[in-house]
Amino acid sequence: MTIQSALSRRDALKLFAATTSTLAITSPAIASAFRSLVDNKQTLLKWYQIKPNHYAFVDLNTGGNVLLHLREDRCTLIDTKYPHFAGAILDDAHTILAADHPPLTLINTHHHGDHTAGNGAIIPHAKASYAHKNAIPRIQSQLDRFKQTAQNAVDQAKQYSDSEELESIAHQISSKASSWTNQTITPTTAVDKAVTTIPSTEITLHHFGAGHTDNDLVVHFENDNVIHTGDLVFAGLHPFFDPSAGVTAKGWVNSLQRTLALCDSKTTVIPGHGQPGTKAIIQSQLDYMSQLIEQVQKQIDAGTTKEAVAEMHWDFMDGLGFERIKSRAISAVYDELSQ
Ligand SMILES: [Zn+2]
Repeated sequence: MTIQSALSRRDALKLFAATTSTLAITSPAIASAFRSLVDNKQTLLKWYQIKPNHYAFVDLNTGGNVLLHLREDRCTLIDTKYPHFAGAILDDAHTILAADHPPLTLINTHHHGDHTAGNGAIIPHAKASYAHKNAIPRIQSQLDRFKQTAQNAVDQAKQYSDSEELESIAHQISSKASSWTNQTITPTTAVDKAVTTIPSTEITLHHFGAGHTDNDLVVHFENDNVIHTGDLVFAGLHPFFDPSAGVTAKGWVNSLQRTLALCDSKTTVIPGHGQPGTKAIIQSQLDYMSQLIEQVQKQIDAGTTKEAVAEMHWDFMDGLGFERIKSRAISAVYDELSQ
């Protein structure tokens, strides 16, 4: 999701404030289900250990969910949030491992800035980096915006915590960002196959066609039974529709069905936004998307205008966060089904 493209920063903050009450219901679930590292490790960011070696940085106010897979011989990072966090992610990887950084591989689940704006602080340190081929030009088109975001890194870091170390890292990133280039922010390997296995690993990247964007990757740690869905799943939230990114609700349904087929009852699923869980969060997103298509089609068949449909609410939408992007989702589906 790219909040900045849809909303002004002030609107985004209001949106996040408005969803806080919903989050208060779901946050204890993750606290009890996964072990917080903050209590026993001096990490800069709040990580949850969701499986041995797998750490999730989940925070609705700070962009897409990050997953860090740490082993003594290699480290894999899924998405980079914003510049002020990217350096801290590397620092925390060092702290959690209590050892030198092993070779780092970065994977971007898609091009949206809240998943990639920190790339410039990560890619120069990475041995390998991956994104779908359609993501490459879309990431590069955001270079100026990433630099601007990095200029505000210190202020943004202060909003997250009062850690002087985090502020110091944000300052370093801010000062380096003016030299970022397309090369600095762009993954070096463009994924152009439906299924790609990262060499010498058990990690597979799946592209099921257009869904949330035209460049979605689902990351599957096959040995550990862990999946990062990218923004194909907004857990407990309305999903973000970005017509400029090639979004398609029907394609999204297909991608979710294919992602579900990778799961069993014990799979741990990291959504692009919202709380990690089991394959049930994929099923919930699939149910939402299927019902949205069905209900909007009914209204189109009845001759209801797009403006009127965009104001509607159906039972399956009850209790979800990101309320302010609901009408945007409905309008996009209306346009797709009207073509
Ligand atoms: Zn997105």
